[in-house]
Amino acid sequence: MSSNIQIERICSFCSSSFIAKTTTTKYCSLRCSSKAYKKRIKEEKIANSNLQTIQIKNQPLTELKFKEFLTVKQLSLLLGFSIRTVYRLINAKKINSYNFSKRKTLIRRSDIDALFEKTQIGFEIVIRPVEKRK
Ligand SMILES: [Zn+2]
Repeated sequence: MSSNIQIERICSFCSSSFIAKTTTTKYCSLRCSSKAYKKRIKEEKIANSNLQTIQIKNQPLTELKFKEFLTVKQLSLLLGFSIRTVYRLINAKKINSYNFSKRKTLIRRSDIDALFEKTQIGFEIVIRPVEKRK
């Protein structure tokens, strides 16, 4: 870039036009430049914070993915189904489960994976979408 040229540009921060010496100058002044920098840092901090929040929220789900046996509640979280739906699928024998006692029903993770690995004729889980209400 030549420093002898004078070129009209629009400041990326305050949107006013200014005369720049290079074709890549982004800001009209040092003030706009530092304000834009501070704004970018702030936005990065917010983005990082949001990312952390998402990671913390998803942590239980990540842990569930590595579990060999799941409770009904854990499976509902993993699949994004309600607990009732999971029980319904168990009762309809669409999901294998083992009842250790009344409140201890476990589902083997590999059984769930297997559901998605092969196409099973006459063995479909049909989940109807909830109708939208106005
Ligand atoms: Zn400016």
